Amino acid sequence: MGQQAWEARVSVKTTEGSVDEFMSRGNSGREILGQALRSSWDWAVRGWILALSPYRYPVKVNYAKWGKSGSSQCACDQSAESFIHLQLSCLLEHRRNARQEGHNRVAKIVENCMDNIHGNHRISVWDKQVSTFLHSLEMSRPQALLLNALTIEELGTWKRAIGQTRTPQQQAGRKRTLDDIKTYFDREDLTKRPDGMIFDFHHRTIYVIEVARTGDSPGSLRNRYLKKTFKYASIVEGLRKAFTPCKVEQITLVIGLLGSIEESRWRQSLEAFGMTRSQQDKLIRRCMVATIEGTHLVPVGVGDT
Ligand SMILES: [Zn+2]
Repeated sequence: MGQQAWEARVSVKTTEGSVDEFMSRGNSGREILGQALRSSWDWAVRGWILALSPYRYPVKVNYAKWGKSGSSQCACDQSAESFIHLQLSCLLEHRRNARQEGHNRVAKIVENCMDNIHGNHRISVWDKQVSTFLHSLEMSRPQALLLNALTIEELGTWKRAIGQTRTPQQQAGRKRTLDDIKTYFDREDLTKRPDGMIFDFHHRTIYVIEVARTGDSPGSLRNRYLKKTFKYASIVEGLRKAFTPCKVEQITLVIGLLGSIEESRWRQSLEAFGMTRSQQDKLIRRCMVATIEGTHLVPVGVGDT
């Protein structure tokens, strides 16, 4: 049965129950998801509905249930071809690439929205190694002032000096080089690549941003959040030591393939970043559209290789 025939067949089945159940989960951003679905492409919304409906998504596991194909084994030979396998762990190259593209689209939206917040007193790098971030701090202000070791008492002088476009008269803090700063990090940490790193020299805060897509269950969202938080913990610790008394905030934004988020956690992070409620709403809505459309990028169906 071809893709079109399949979709015609499943579209006559009612899907309201499973969609309603999904949409009624609390603290998951459902109000905004409703808006996001209205601004997503029709084909992506159709895929979204199929993914929520039992046995409807066109993967081998479901074809097998419908008696259309004998084996539910995926062509990558690692597992049965289910929606979650297809989207999150399939080893086939074209699916891996589509998955990467889905992530990149969400991350790009986070980048665009975040670079609009207090941009004039922030330095940001996106999708770069930690060492590149440190280098950009060295290059960005007169005499590499952002690298200087500071005491609380020196912060005021430091901030004024950073605000000047010319070389300041007075040395603010103890001069350090990039090599001095690097001693606070393991060599391996310097090559890690969080999605974003931002130095806010007005609020004296460094943000480490990570974006991840995963399954939509509360357990998946939480586990992915914990894994990502742990992955960058040593970088956060290094930054804290290197840039005392600046603060370091880890912002880990995990979103489901079908648009679920841990809403309170997202809002807490985005508020700490300096976003108003309406800026948060806009970012969340755009990320939801990107993840739903991204899910549709992964080729589905028997014989798509
Ligand atoms: Zn596979």
